[in-house]
Amino acid sequence: MKKLFFASLMLWGFSGIAQNEVQSGFAEYKFNPDHVECMTPIQRAQIMHQLKQSQAALQQKGLLKISSHAAAPKFIWPVKKADSAPYENVWSISNYVDHDPNYPNQIKDWNCGTRTYDTDGGYNHAGIDIFTWPFGWYQFQNNQAEVIAAADGVIVYKSDGNFDMSCSMSGGNWNAVYVQHADGSIAWYGHMKKNSLTAKPVGAAVAAGEFLGVVGSSGNSTGPHLHFEVYNSNFDLVETYQGPCNNFPSGNQSWWQQQKPYEDPKINAVLTHSAVPVFNTCPATETTNLKNDFGNGNSVVAAIYLADQQPSTTVQVQLVRPNNTVAYTTTASANVFYAASYWYWTFTSAYFNMTGTWKFRATYQGKTVTHEFTYGLLSSENIETSKVEIYPNPAKETLTIQGIPVHKIKRVSLYDSSGKMVSEKNRTADKMDVSGLAKGNYVMVIQTDEQTLTKKFIKE
Ligand SMILES: [Zn+2]
Repeated sequence: MKKLFFASLMLWGFSGIAQNEVQSGFAEYKFNPDHVECMTPIQRAQIMHQLKQSQAALQQKGLLKISSHAAAPKFIWPVKKADSAPYENVWSISNYVDHDPNYPNQIKDWNCGTRTYDTDGGYNHAGIDIFTWPFGWYQFQNNQAEVIAAADGVIVYKSDGNFDMSCSMSGGNWNAVYVQHADGSIAWYGHMKKNSLTAKPVGAAVAAGEFLGVVGSSGNSTGPHLHFEVYNSNFDLVETYQGPCNNFPSGNQSWWQQQKPYEDPKINAVLTHSAVPVFNTCPATETTNLKNDFGNGNSVVAAIYLADQQPSTTVQVQLVRPNNTVAYTTTASANVFYAASYWYWTFTSAYFNMTGTWKFRATYQGKTVTHEFTYGLLSSENIETSKVEIYPNPAKETLTIQGIPVHKIKRVSLYDSSGKMVSEKNRTADKMDVSGLAKGNYVMVIQTDEQTLTKKFIKE
């Protein structure tokens, strides 16, 4: 279960603008507090069996060459922000591998901390759980967090087609890709989104950084995350991090090109909203209330989304006018560690005494992230729904959207007659390539910050 803990909700006055108090809030986002095991022992044993069989078959066909002399791979990070996603980072970590063989509640990660878990049944968490943040379900729906190959290798096995919106110990199988490296080690990439997996077949080579699928919540899972688990050529579990409590016989060297710090404090996103976002009950998509263009009279909710926020550290926050003068400044800091947290401020229209492109920016750990939004530019650009057309229709090659200013088009998605999404563009564009679609009836969904329009068309 995903839960939100409202540690505090405060009203912060602001010196100098006493009549315009800015309402602010804070919440922690807690991923998998109930410690659902990422797969059952039976599932793990079945996967091991499949991997060994597939490995033998591929070796016989000459598609897999494993050398005991080859060095262990050096990984890159296996989760990547999709190019179109409006964030800075898309992930945080909920759990590492548990190095304490005893259970329950006897846990120790590679850094001698407790960022891991075990269960009453004797499962010691065997991988890294990388969850998507902010808006894990929204990211899932919009393919904003991609799983990529951490190293060169060969797809030794994969499974797809399983339900991908689990919120608990479902007992179902996950969607996963297994990549074997030259030294015989295998990386497991689990919980992926149904039908998002690479089209490459078992036996095909993949390069480090290559797309493997989309982060999802298939199998035993409490929400979208990647479970990354690694075995050496003897099928011994590998701890990929070098650290003081990595006591695995498989070795205590780092398997990362650049090992990330145990806690990795960073700004994942700076965003503006029409209202405070709502984190709905799993698996409902979050009500993000994302908005970048505000009309006169609107209030603006500006928010920052942090990963691994450290106690007693400070985030500097500024609201900046179109002429680069600062309209509001404040700080955010917490007393304890949060793997995922967000802070927001509601600015009434009284703050927006200038028309144009405003900035909301946050600085944390020496890094500044700036989000731009417009204020007061909307009124002349109201979209008249009845005047929106797509042409030509029927279409062979390209569809053009008419009646919406191009910069207002935020996403265009195409659905076939069965309701399956067949194509999507997450950027400002008034043209959509349909040349690759099969003949038939389709629906185009056009999203702007203010509305969603639906248009039917025929591909011929
Ligand atoms: Zn896991």
